[in-house]
Amino acid sequence: MKTLAKKDLIKAMNIWAQKHDVLSPTKTAPGDCIFDTFREKTFTLDYKKPPLSPKAVFFPHSEVTFKVEKNEYREIVSAKKMLIFGLRACDMMGILQASSFMSRDRKDVYYNAKRNAATTIVMACPGPQNETCFCTTTRSGPVAQKGFDLQFYDVGDAFLIEIGTSRGEELLSAIPLADVDESQARRQIEEFKQKAIRSIPEVKSFIKAMNKLKDGKADEKIWDSFGQKCITCGGCAFVCPTCTCFNVYDHQSSPGNGLRARTWDACLYGGFTREASGHNPRASQALRLKRRHEHKLLHFNEIDIQGSLCGCVGCGRCSDYCPVHIGTLEVVKAIAE
Ligand code: SF4
Ligand code: SF4
Repeated sequence: MKTLAKKDLIKAMNIWAQKHDVLSPTKTAPGDCIFDTFREKTFTLDYKKPPLSPKAVFFPHSEVTFKVEKNEYREIVSAKKMLIFGLRACDMMGILQASSFMSRDRKDVYYNAKRNAATTIVMACPGPQNETCFCTTTRSGPVAQKGFDLQFYDVGDAFLIEIGTSRGEELLSAIPLADVDESQARRQIEEFKQKAIRSIPEVKSFIKAMNKLKDGKADEKIWDSFGQKCITCGGCAFVCPTCTCFNVYDHQSSPGNGLRARTWDACLYGGFTREASGHNPRASQALRLKRRHEHKLLHFNEIDIQGSLCGCVGCGRCSDYCPVHIGTLEVVKAIAE
């Protein structure tokens, strides 16, 4: 196994940045952390859960998929050679789940072009990033099981590096590394992992809620109560690494010229399911909230969840950001009780 001294990390990042657009944890002026273009000055290793998962790297908020110019059609499939450094395991699982969805039945060319051009480096999580993390319950962390090109373990003055793919191995060939005894490194990794697991408590109400939903024993009234509180901001869907709803629209700028674009959408918006006739099969906010949580906890597609427990990867962002406290943690608690 290989190890990279922490003092050499910036050097390694600069080497990788010669051939990739590198995204890394970046401190913003107000003190938040986001994934942004790597710059030595704002790069940080001292980061907690970023407010947004990196799903927008492959699935942008808004994306032109084709243009029509003088009646000529041109498809736009864009992709840059990208490296994402410092992903957490839950977000890696989020990428796996979204990628699986975007490749099922028919490959989404716009998503897959970007995903295929991206290299991922996971930073194994040392423990909960805040009080809403529950990746151990959903089987998606704190250490990534698959999907990564490289996984780093912070063991003090150095990172132990686990290689996931030949693409990851290739990255290592360009940077200054040292060898480390394989069995000793494996032991250190196991200790790191067990310590992290112990520090992230299991959310018992989560499994209980899944079972109650499966058995049809969840109290229907909870959806009415949450439906009355929800202000339909869509925030829970936008911060969620596994939400992939989108809308497609055409815009004609002049005769023979225009574009088709897609933008993020949310199943919590009334217009998402409203049919052309005006009929809406999910006519109330209560029904839309029920559907969203069933999608995460009950009606997920087995082939899309990549060894995770369900369609939620336990990042806790919906609980962090819902302005009226209808995150998945609050919902499972209500169902379980
Ligand atoms: S449902 Fe909430 S906790 Fe689960 S993956 Fe989405 S944002 Fe994270
Ligand atoms: S974040 Fe909360 S208020 Fe906003 S749509 Fe989601 S559940 Fe409703």
